[in-house]
Amino acid sequence: MNVLVTGGAGYIGSHICAQLCACGHTPVILDDFSNAKPDIPARLQQLTGQRPVVYRGDVRDAALLDHVFAAAEIGAVIHTAGKKAVGESVTDPQLYYENNVHGLLALTKAMAVHGVFTLVFSSSATVYSETNPVPYREGNAVLAGTSPYGRTKLIAEWILKDLAAADARWRVALLRYFNPIGADPSGLIGDDPAGVPNNLMPYICQVAAGVRPELTVFGNDYPTADGTCERDYIHVSDLAAGHIQALEYLAAHAGVLEVNLGTGQPVSVLGLIETFIKATGQPVPYRIGPRRAGDIPAYYAAVEKAKTVLGFEAACSVEQMCCDAWRFAKNSYGGI
Ligand code: NAD
Ligand code: UDP
Repeated sequence: MNVLVTGGAGYIGSHICAQLCACGHTPVILDDFSNAKPDIPARLQQLTGQRPVVYRGDVRDAALLDHVFAAAEIGAVIHTAGKKAVGESVTDPQLYYENNVHGLLALTKAMAVHGVFTLVFSSSATVYSETNPVPYREGNAVLAGTSPYGRTKLIAEWILKDLAAADARWRVALLRYFNPIGADPSGLIGDDPAGVPNNLMPYICQVAAGVRPELTVFGNDYPTADGTCERDYIHVSDLAAGHIQALEYLAAHAGVLEVNLGTGQPVSVLGLIETFIKATGQPVPYRIGPRRAGDIPAYYAAVEKAKTVLGFEAACSVEQMCCDAWRFAKNSYGGI
């Protein structure tokens, strides 16, 4: 099947493309390369032996979407394109609603016109309100979206639920990612953010590679075992595999599926740093700094639904995630 992957040159999208190829599908990438390096298609070719078809442009461009759907027989869409920095969404909410909400509307409109009704959507654990008990469980959880970014994901989920309620042809998977880290074991693709990393693992990697002098741990006075925040880190290749399982599920089921993709295992900031140092042998100098505004002390995924409904279970250990992230970082930054 030809699968349109919006944002297919990005961190998660490129790993999804690799898995699609491995499963005999053909990824068709639509990406504006606003947050992707131009050599990703070549790297994917090196990794998979298959040069992906790439359309460079904006997912809000109706004429481009029309062209893409007319040119290739698209069987399903995986929509990862979007903006994802929580802090930036607070200072520039317009950019986030424009990109993430308008992008989804333009895409689903084009899909319906071209008779494509199968969509896997990159949602996020940020749709859960922090008032929910952990682990965050699908179903009757309170959904809130704690930032403009989180609210674009929540609005997107509502839009997709409303579309499916109005037209029974829609088959939609809302995949709520927890904290994807790591990289393909080849070291060819991975998380390579532009500028100063917002997220913990790329920051750790840049410190280990000597690109930055030290890591700041944002607070050690949280009500957790070691005082630092706990998250559910999942290997990006496991996460990507979940998309293939979601496509298989949607082939047999109409309507909307909302499901977490995580490991169900909370890991603290200090825990991740220690595991990284042990697994890679690289020093990671750090200091304890103040809390980061908006951080929630601890959350992780309830994983039973993903296992029961999709047959999904994350396989990689935190050590593996660290080793794979470091292999990619070494290649990218020329670290020791
Ligand atoms: P990323 O920035 O690496 O990838 C997104 C890709 O989309 C980039 O290649 C970018 O160039 C492209 N893009 C952005 N806006 C576009 C537009 N308007 N038209 C076409 N292409 C556009 O981000 P990622 O980490 O791979 O995240 C992918 C998706 O997963 C996003 O929707 C994000 O919100 C969601 N998500 C990510 C995380 C995470 O921690 N990385 C967690 C939860 C959810
Ligand atoms: N974090 C940190 N230093 C950094 C980046 C992140 O201590 O330079 C912490 C952050 O406060 C949070 C955890 O690491 O507790 C995970 O942060 P990330 O931004 O990767 O994910 P999210 O906050 O979205 O779960």
